[in-house]
Amino acid sequence: MSRPITIALHGGAGNLVRYRGTGRLEEAEAFLSTLIDDLYVMLEGGSAALDVVTHACVRMEDSALFHAGRGSSPNTKGYVECDASIMCGRTRAAGAVASVRSVKNPILAARTVMEQTDHVLFVGTEAELLAEHHGLAVVDANYFQPCDTAAIATEVPSAHRGTVGAVALDLNGILAAATTTGGTLRKTAGRVGDTPIIGAGTYAANRVGAVSCTGVGEYFIRTAAAHTIVSRMQLLGETVGVAAGTAMSDIEALGGNGGIIAIDDRGNVAMPYNTTGMYRAVRTSRGERLVASL
Ligand code: ASP
Repeated sequence: MSRPITIALHGGAGNLVRYRGTGRLEEAEAFLSTLIDDLYVMLEGGSAALDVVTHACVRMEDSALFHAGRGSSPNTKGYVECDASIMCGRTRAAGAVASVRSVKNPILAARTVMEQTDHVLFVGTEAELLAEHHGLAVVDANYFQPCDTAAIATEVPSAHRGTVGAVALDLNGILAAATTTGGTLRKTAGRVGDTPIIGAGTYAANRVGAVSCTGVGEYFIRTAAAHTIVSRMQLLGETVGVAAGTAMSDIEALGGNGGIIAIDDRGNVAMPYNTTGMYRAVRTSRGERLVASL
């Protein structure tokens, strides 16, 4: 019997019903539909989970369809600050960047931190210099095309979000997770959410699971959401569905909202959210394929 492979993506959870009839949901779903199949082909061809989640995030960052990479919107002081993280389940190596303003693909900077330094998290200017030093593309403020200017103008801060993330299980049974964001809408300058915090927004451990979160990051940090899900699976023997659902309920009980994508080492998937929608896509070697937003 061939080994299971799975790829799951999210493009952020939030008040997505407001986009009904605008074409935005269809546009994002069409993009995710192409992307999920491309990523699945990569996995089928033997690509490493780490490369697949990296590629997934780069494509979503570049699309300007989500609040990450190019689509990031400005903070309260009028400039974009991006956060990202990545983790390898096999080695539990991890890398992250926070509050970067000039890195075209923050997820590549996070991977650079993981692979080229002895550290896990770099912030601000030094993270930008590190990325530049390793040949990553830099951009100026004109590069960004905030993905939803109407929401920026009208919605309360943190009501609209669009962090993106990916989790994958490859043919060698290796798990990986990655998450990248422009943060919550109109976030306070300098504020950092869960996305670059290993164990909060992102976590992966081989033989257990991989998780990427989206939502009001403060709640995901306070509940150590991504690590808690993996720990519940490992220590309590919970299924990925029960573990992710419990984490979501815990966040809701504290007053938070958002969504989670999580997979286990056999390729089972859970994608709970407690907002009106979450851009999401999944494809597994069992023949499951889903692309949805509401
Ligand atoms: N979790 C991200 C943050 O708090 C935002 C999001 O997921 O949309 O920065």
